[in-house]
Amino acid sequence: MTAFPSDIDISRAASKLPIAEVAARLDIPDEALVPYGRDKAKVERAFLDGLSGRPDGKLILVTAINPTPAGEGKTTTTVGLGDGLNAIGRRAAICLREPSLGPCFGQKGGAAGGGRAQVVPMEDINLHFTGDFHAITSAHNLLAAMVDNHIHWGNALGLDPRRVVWRRVVDMNDRALRDIVVSLGGPSNGMPRETGFDITVASEVMAIVCLASDIADLEARLGRIVVGYRQDRSAVTAADLKATGAMAALLRDAMLPNLVQTLENNPAFVHGGPFANIAHGCNSVVATKAALKLADYVVTEAGFGADLGAEKFFDIKCRMAGLRPDATVIVATVRALKMNGGVARSALASENVEALRKGAANLGRHIENVRGFGVPVIVAINHFATDTAAELDALKAYVARMGVEAVVCRHWAEGSSGILELAQKVAALADGGTADFAPIYADDLSLIGKVETVVRRIYRGKAVTAEPQVMKELERFEAAGFGHLPVCLAKTPYSFSTDPALIGAPEGHIVHIRDVRLSAGAGFVVVICGDILTMPGLPRTPAAEHISLGLDGLIEGLS
Ligand code: ADP
Ligand code: MG
Repeated sequence: MTAFPSDIDISRAASKLPIAEVAARLDIPDEALVPYGRDKAKVERAFLDGLSGRPDGKLILVTAINPTPAGEGKTTTTVGLGDGLNAIGRRAAICLREPSLGPCFGQKGGAAGGGRAQVVPMEDINLHFTGDFHAITSAHNLLAAMVDNHIHWGNALGLDPRRVVWRRVVDMNDRALRDIVVSLGGPSNGMPRETGFDITVASEVMAIVCLASDIADLEARLGRIVVGYRQDRSAVTAADLKATGAMAALLRDAMLPNLVQTLENNPAFVHGGPFANIAHGCNSVVATKAALKLADYVVTEAGFGADLGAEKFFDIKCRMAGLRPDATVIVATVRALKMNGGVARSALASENVEALRKGAANLGRHIENVRGFGVPVIVAINHFATDTAAELDALKAYVARMGVEAVVCRHWAEGSSGILELAQKVAALADGGTADFAPIYADDLSLIGKVETVVRRIYRGKAVTAEPQVMKELERFEAAGFGHLPVCLAKTPYSFSTDPALIGAPEGHIVHIRDVRLSAGAGFVVVICGDILTMPGLPRTPAAEHISLGLDGLIEGLS
């Protein structure tokens, strides 16, 4: 048996169309494109503005069970389903996040899909792409430079240097930068203070670019960013520092959606990439809205499992942007359900129907939860070569008992021809008009009430606890007029609880809030439950060790 080709080999063998031909499939005219080479383009603002009167297509979310650390194939399935819908004659577009360099050089690898369901050119998409992350990094760090500069030149706003909360960012896993001291070396270098770096995807500017509906909204949101506090605890904002205009200028092109294609030449918007823990983990509102105007079906992905990704997609992105999802695909894999049933990672390749049945409770919980938002569900079983017939039958039987369909999909190995059945069923589900979407809490509920709602209804915990100073901070946010914001919970993606080892479908656990942060510009309150790193580190053997540039100029080793 010959080995299945690597992602990068498949990607390189793709017969790509010029990007203008891909755009033409969505009736985007040549003059509305800003090409970045031959196979990538941004779409012009004026053209996008002109779409507003058109009806929207159907919005389909792809989410997943609680994953193994390798990921369960949400991106691969999002791409495969987009190709599958096109293959059955539907006009479908894909909306994905842009990958970060952190995981690319760390452990997980790239994020352009896998096997025969990828977006291309994968080297470009995974590395610098169209420069959006660089622009976001620059805009973020411009504000940081203006904070320190303001303090240096007399600090007219009275910012307390010990209470500056705006850190710096770089798109790299670099633990050495987590906690640093700046401005050492004497008075001409500014006022020494402790600070640190986060990874760019954790930047509030990233979340803002992804949630802003247009330039006016972008500027307003940037202006609301809280950079720190005075001694009396009153907030100092980016608008107070007069940083907003220059930040927006740096973000001009980053606000335009990027168009690429799948291996099967179907259109895919890859735009924005906020963290799925301290931010909402979805691609940009601008791209999703454009795709809905241009296509009859839009397939999009939200980060991590449905407890984090789908909840934030519904409660943050859809709420803010007024989106009304029509169907949800929950990706499940036999191996991750076996892991949720207690099997060690090293033993996932051997048949174990018993563990699968036990772990299926994890999927069942996600199905119930998504239905709780009023959105109909279908399960995509992302087929792996190690799955056995007995395991697949047991999984299908479990899902059928919940009154939901499960379809085995082979898009990773076969491309669109392996996912036609799912495509037919998803189209029918979305067209069926059974969705009646509503977020699970109202804007006017208290902040802690919102956290309790998510914990009870989604995580199935029995209580929320927090130190008195955390509760005080939430009260301060409410007093300052931020009580109407949605909450963005950050916790481990591996469990419904805050303990990554508590797999399956736990209930009755207690969720402890460790910290809360205001993202006034993005428009949510981050609630940190557990240890969340906003600057990851590289593993002992980083993926970077295996990536190289050949003498022919081709990049090797990306996955
Ligand atoms: P997610 O978006 O859920 O994090 P990805 O779609 O990025 O997951 O897939 C994670 C990794 O798993 C990728 O390297 C991808 O190629 C691989 N993968 C996905 N589906 C399959 C499959 N059916 N068989 C083998 N490998 C797969
Ligand atoms: Mg993904």
